[in-house]
Amino acid sequence: MHFPGCGREAGGAPRSGRFANALGLRAQTGDWRLGTGTVLKVENLTKIYDGGVLALDDVSFEVEDGEFLAVIGLSGSGKSTLLRCINRLIEPTEGRITWHGVDVTAANQEELRRIRRRIGMVFQHFNLVHRSKVITNVLAGRLGYVNPALSLINRFPPSDVRMAKEKLARVGLAEKAKARADELSGGQQQRVGIARALMQNPEMILADEPVASLDPVLAHGIMKYLEDINASDNITVLCSLHFLDLVHRYADRVIALNEGKLVFQGPPSAIDDDMFKDIYGQEAERVG
Ligand code: ADP
Ligand code: MG
Repeated sequence: MHFPGCGREAGGAPRSGRFANALGLRAQTGDWRLGTGTVLKVENLTKIYDGGVLALDDVSFEVEDGEFLAVIGLSGSGKSTLLRCINRLIEPTEGRITWHGVDVTAANQEELRRIRRRIGMVFQHFNLVHRSKVITNVLAGRLGYVNPALSLINRFPPSDVRMAKEKLARVGLAEKAKARADELSGGQQQRVGIARALMQNPEMILADEPVASLDPVLAHGIMKYLEDINASDNITVLCSLHFLDLVHRYADRVIALNEGKLVFQGPPSAIDDDMFKDIYGQEAERVG
């Protein structure tokens, strides 16, 4: 089994590990509120789908405010399930998720709406309404989660329209506001997806394989926008990624899943050959 790009530095120097000290010093036990800015705590998370597939198996980890956390693992290892459990687009079977002190797993519908407004999502296949204008797709982010029916309603206050234009400019697409979404290239569509997520003024972004549908050059373009949003706006980013080189280049820290189990958490630089085989399987080979 080959993983193109794994182990190869494709885009400049690795990140310096802004959070290395905070993570190193953080107490592993005790009240999480006493920690150094933990915003998300996942405890003993298990997901068993109807039909019996064990997609997540007793997964626990914490996320610091402003951290860029990569989630890696083979296809089917549970990355999407994990990201979607965090805002309960998927209902966990067991375990607890705490976000800014709120128990997400116990939240009622109203609380959940409020939580979801603070968490933006970016999708592998962009999830745009293809026939709608770019600006309409961005404005849809104002409505919380992407709802294709609602996104067709073109009545937004001028302040929202102004904000949408700002967000489009942020991702370098100011001139495309009136284009139809399906006239854009894949990379441009994902930038629209990011602008849409930014319309929520999110405190955290969950990005599920945001570059898996793009070629490697475009992948860096998209990752750089996520990096900028993370660093400039202090938006915490949880991002599942397929390629280790992207993890090395963009992530502060990485967690790895294998068959639903958390098999590693730490700095990307700590993934040595043994760890790599634990994550990707014995027959996996680095390329490059
Ligand atoms: P990844 O995102 O890492 O590819 P997923 O979270 O999509 O992994 O899937 C984890 C496991 O759960 C896989 O075995 C997958 O087949 C299974 N799975 C995912 N979604 C469903 C579902 N809706 N119903 C049943 N099994 C599912
Ligand atoms: Mg997935």
